[in-house]
Amino acid sequence: MGVLASEAGVTGWNPSSQHSEGRAARARLEAARREIAAAAGAAPGSVVLTSGATEGANTVLRAAARPDGGAEPWDVLLISAIEHDCVRGAAAAAAEAGARLAEIPANADGLVEPAAVAAALAAHPGRRRLVAVMAANNETGVIQPVEEIVRLAREAGAQSLVDSAQAFGKIPYAFDALGADFALLSGHKIGGPAGTGAILVREGAALAPALLGGGQELRRRAGTENLIGIVGFAAAAASVDPDSWTAAASARDRFENLLKFAAQGLVFFGDEVHRLPNTSCVAATDWRAERQLMGLDLAGFAVSAGSACSSGKMAASHVLLAMGADPDLAASAIRVSFGPDASAGDAEALAASWLELWERRRRAAAPG
Ligand code: PLP
Repeated sequence: MGVLASEAGVTGWNPSSQHSEGRAARARLEAARREIAAAAGAAPGSVVLTSGATEGANTVLRAAARPDGGAEPWDVLLISAIEHDCVRGAAAAAAEAGARLAEIPANADGLVEPAAVAAALAAHPGRRRLVAVMAANNETGVIQPVEEIVRLAREAGAQSLVDSAQAFGKIPYAFDALGADFALLSGHKIGGPAGTGAILVREGAALAPALLGGGQELRRRAGTENLIGIVGFAAAAASVDPDSWTAAASARDRFENLLKFAAQGLVFFGDEVHRLPNTSCVAATDWRAERQLMGLDLAGFAVSAGSACSSGKMAASHVLLAMGADPDLAASAIRVSFGPDASAGDAEALAASWLELWERRRRAAAPG
């Protein structure tokens, strides 16, 4: 998937330059855009290249496009309770700027039910409304009924945003068929370079740019394109294959079954509904995730807390709290992401390490 040496020259040039090197860079950029579009089931004109899903969320949520090409605040933002922090943070900033913000609840399985979306749309009328529900959750892997949610939003005259950073590549994905107005992709979630991504914009829908200046990306995202990153993102997009996650799903199930068999009182979040093939989120009451993480790290396993601590401070996951988990349980959740080449042996080794820590903790807590 590495960038070919012969491309290194091309990718170093500015695609907006008029000289032949610039035109070659432009051709490479547009080829990459076509590759990303084809992989995501979108038209090339729908792909606005960004630095990642976080930039995409901030662009879509912080302003709506006016028919004259300008921007104005959304009237109403209806955001699911399990959205990634980039969507939540951008929505909170939009609310400070005057948008009315309402949360759409999730159920105990981690699903945002279409009925909850319909209720939110009925309770919050407005002229410019945006509904944001992710395609699959990053902590539990739970796959959301976004086709139906997008349809409900459209029927109610609202626009829709589907954060597809986790779903794209792991399950079949087709933006045009989904019918959403906007979707977010992230390069590093599909094995591409961090700092790349895209906003997919439905043909006919307008995007209010967050970055102003040059006319790049059809005036939807100013700034010289990160061509070397985009070429890497396109190579990763061209090789996504949801079928390649079968081994990960088997490894995940093996890990969960071993834990279920050997330890009592564990909670597996979202395991009763459709999940991404690679994700497991498990909690053992009153056993802080940090402690499990440290023990597993020493054993050579890189797992995360229910909520990744981007600030260095671990907080109980808002996703698990939204599913009705008690805060102590939520603070005890770990999240395991199995790679596409994970084996049953990997799953067994991880389960054995975790169970050893569990046993040690049990013995330490036992009286006498
Ligand atoms: N949305 C989801 C569901 C994610 O998992 C992530 C990344 O962790 C993001 C958005 C943010 O993506 P990026 O790192 O490309 O800004």
